[in-house]
Amino acid sequence: MPVAATGDYDDANIFARILRGEIPCKRVYEDEFALAFEDINPQAPVHVLVIPKAAYRSWADFSGRASDAEIAGFVRAVGAVARQLGLEAPGYRLLANAGEDAHQEVPHLHVHLFGGRPLGPMLAR
Ligand code: 5GP
Repeated sequence: MPVAATGDYDDANIFARILRGEIPCKRVYEDEFALAFEDINPQAPVHVLVIPKAAYRSWADFSGRASDAEIAGFVRAVGAVARQLGLEAPGYRLLANAGEDAHQEVPHLHVHLFGGRPLGPMLAR
């Protein structure tokens, strides 16, 4: 079920539980600001989720409330994951869903990183 774009942060969401170590994940990258792990239902040969370590629902929430260090750290982490996975040359796609119209299912900001094959146009034509 998609979640609303606004409202209080829900501490019980699945990514909060992964961050607390209550649920396992296949970790790809971790630093002070971000954790990256494989999506449980991959939509491409490479499908990784990159999440900030602190509690933010969406890109708007994150960009509005996070410190400059958190924002820089998270953006750098997304790039580091793409580099680490060897995706710079072949290419990759980043996507962040927010709110019901985008069908966001987990109310903790996450950037999807897709790669490993030609991904085609972003939207059906
Ligand atoms: P959204 O639709 O919110 O942008 O994407 C949520 C993503 O989280 C989906 O691609 C879904 O497969 C993934 N996901 C949901 N639950 C889990 C989980 O417990 N572990 C992992 N690794 N991914 C999950």
